[in-house]
Amino acid sequence: MEHNKKITRAGGVSLPVSLRREYGIEPGEKVNVSVNAAGVIELKRIEGSCLFCHSDEELKLYEGRHICRKCRAAIGGL
Ligand SMILES: [Zn+2]
Repeated sequence: MEHNKKITRAGGVSLPVSLRREYGIEPGEKVNVSVNAAGVIELKRIEGSCLFCHSDEELKLYEGRHICRKCRAAIGGL
């Protein structure tokens, strides 16, 4: 999935709503911004909320999605 986005005057770029919904990305979540050796700008999620219940406790990333301890246990202990 690719999206072409325009950078705002303030230097911001909005993430497409479909991507935010699919990965449970909420306003206020923190990301790390870096440029890799190929010159590609990367955003890495460093903080967030659970995809299922929006808790921010004991999160682990699973295929790019944050899942809390309680929900991991509920879906089989990832
Ligand atoms: Zn949860």
